[in-house]
Amino acid sequence: MDQPLAIVTGGSSGIGQHLVIALARAGYAVAFSYHSQPASAQATVEMLAGEGRQAMAAACDGGLKADVERFISSAVAWAARAPELLVNNAGIQTWSPLLDLTEERWDAVIRTNLKGCFLHTQLAGRLMAEAGRGGSIVNIGSGCNKVAFPNLVDYTASKGGIEQFTKSSAVELGKFGITVNCVAPGAIATERTAAEAPDYAGQWSPLTPLGRVGTPEDVAGVVLFFASNAARFVTGQTLWVDGGLFSRAPWPDY
Ligand code: NDP
Repeated sequence: MDQPLAIVTGGSSGIGQHLVIALARAGYAVAFSYHSQPASAQATVEMLAGEGRQAMAAACDGGLKADVERFISSAVAWAARAPELLVNNAGIQTWSPLLDLTEERWDAVIRTNLKGCFLHTQLAGRLMAEAGRGGSIVNIGSGCNKVAFPNLVDYTASKGGIEQFTKSSAVELGKFGITVNCVAPGAIATERTAAEAPDYAGQWSPLTPLGRVGTPEDVAGVVLFFASNAARFVTGQTLWVDGGLFSRAPWPDY
């Protein structure tokens, strides 16, 4: 294929699904993984094919090395080239107070969110380094890269890990011309967050300086920026795509 190859984890719903669409429309051949929603993944592939765009979907548990190896190999075979871009988007959340959190939930969240990021970065990073063309890796973080979220200790620990993993990877992969950055979304309207709260936008908009919740397109635009030539000298950074939410200090009313 002539198009650059983008690999996206967790492209079957929410932010990941919009990322797949935005990257394909920007001219990438996009290989993306899904975990439990094959029909949704297939629908995206078919919708993009109808527009003349290139996309493929593969089942993958992003925390399992054998699955990740299979996914990345199938992506490279499909596109007949090494990836130019990797977006580590797949993530899960569980809600539990620290004192009640089970070992199983802790392991599932850390495995999917943090270990998955490591496994994909290592494999795609090796391919990018071997191909010698450089590349971009973008990790999807969260506001809890830097602040503590209540009842989300496992999720917060995983995203704090992604913050530091981004910096370490950027330092190590710089010599190959590979940039590694993090996009940390604030409150973004997806099906998952709609299920979390009946009036998600009504709750989060007043807390957000820009006065609204974000959209997956808001996140996709910044991923495209990090992947673009405009960001060629930017690495190891986290960009908050949060409408100012996590820059706002708690402050008493006077
Ligand atoms: P969704 O639940 O809509 O999407 C999560 C995606 O990850 C799905 O495609 C899902 O696949 C995939 N996934 C889940 N488990 C695995 C696994 N074991 N292996 C591979 N893929 C898996 O969530 P969002 O779109 O809301 O979130 C996407 C990312 O953005 C996450 O990293 C999240 O932490 C981050 N984020 C989101 C915010 C928001 O407000 N929405 C705010 C801050 C950060 P499938 O559906 O097929 O099971």
